[in-house]
Amino acid sequence: MSEPVGTWEERWHPLREEWVIIAAHRQNRPWSGETIAHSEEKEPEYVEDCYLCPRNSRVSGKSNPDYDSVFVFDNDHPCVGSNAPLNLAKPAGIYKNRAADGIARVVCYSPKHNLTLAELEQREVENLLTTWQRQYTDLAARPEINHVLVFENKGEAVGVSNPHPHCQIYATNFVFKTIETEARASARHFSETGRYLFQDIISAEQTDGRRIIAENETAIAFLPYFARYAYEVYVAPKRTHPSLAALSDREVADFSEVLQATLIRFDNLWQMPFPYVMPLHQAPTDGGNYEAFHFHIEFHPPLRKPNLLKYLAGPEIGGGNFLSDTSPEEKALELQMQSPIHYKHKT
Ligand SMILES: [Zn+2]
Ligand SMILES: [Zn+2]
Repeated sequence: MSEPVGTWEERWHPLREEWVIIAAHRQNRPWSGETIAHSEEKEPEYVEDCYLCPRNSRVSGKSNPDYDSVFVFDNDHPCVGSNAPLNLAKPAGIYKNRAADGIARVVCYSPKHNLTLAELEQREVENLLTTWQRQYTDLAARPEINHVLVFENKGEAVGVSNPHPHCQIYATNFVFKTIETEARASARHFSETGRYLFQDIISAEQTDGRRIIAENETAIAFLPYFARYAYEVYVAPKRTHPSLAALSDREVADFSEVLQATLIRFDNLWQMPFPYVMPLHQAPTDGGNYEAFHFHIEFHPPLRKPNLLKYLAGPEIGGGNFLSDTSPEEKALELQMQSPIHYKHKT
C-alpha cells in the first residue's frame, strides 16, 4: 500500500478556536448524491411580481419607491422586531425565554432584478459599502441593539428563490455565537501577544502566498489555511478596524476592489452565479471593548462542484467540527486562475 497523496491533516481555526479536518485524499471518491440544476434562462431587468423591484407592492401593502441605487426597508416578516410579543408564557423548569427584540431590514443592491453583486460596477459596490457603514452606525447607536449582522444568502442552493440582488440585516439584542467566539479569540490573542489576531492571520497568508485571491495596498482576499468550505474566502482590510464603519474612504475603495475581484472569480469558476452565504463579521455593539476585533467579510459557498453540495453531516451537525475533503491550496489555485473580467461582460 502506498501513502495517501494530497492533504490529510487537522488544521487549527484560530478565529473559531476549533480543529478542521482536511481529508483531501478523499476528494475523488465516487459520488452519487443530489445535484443542483441551474437554469440558463435570462432574467429580465424588471419582474412584475418581485417584491423587491422598484414600484412593486410588498406583502405589508407598502409599495417600493422608484429607487435607482441602493434601497433599504424594514423587513415585512421580521424574525426580530420592536413589536415582538412581550407577554410570553413562562417555560418549565430551567428553561427561559424573552422577547425577540431587534430590527430586521432588507437592503436591495440595485433596482435591476437580473444583476448580482458580482456584476455591479465598482462605484455601485462602494455605494453599497457606504450604506452598510451607515446602517451599522445607525443601529449600533440604539441601546437595545447589541449586534448588527449583515448577510447575503445567494442562490437556490442556500434556499433563496428570488434572485433580485439583496442582503439582510438582523440587529439583535444578543451577540451571534460566531462573533462572540471571534471577539474572545481576538481579545485573548491581543492580551497574550500585543498583536492583532487577524493581522497575524493575514501575515501568515502573505508568507505562504498560495491562497491569496486578490490584494491591493490596504485590502486582501484569501482562502484561509483553515477553510471549512471548499471555496471559503475572507475579504478584509489590512488594518484592524472593529467594523466596516471605521474604514476610511480610501480603504472602502480598496476594499470594494478586492471584494469585486473575488466575486467575479467566483462567478467565472463555473460560468454561473456562484451561490454563497456572505456574512459581514463586525464587532458587537453592546458597549464592550472590541479594539482587537478585525472587521472582515466571509464567504461560505455551499457547493464543492457545480452540481455538488457540501453536506453537513456527522462531523459538522453531529459533532460541531468541519470535515473538508478538498485542499485549500488547490481550491485557491482554481480561483486564482480565473479571469478578472466577469464572464457575462466578455464580448
Ligand atoms: Zn426584482
Ligand atoms: Zn469571521
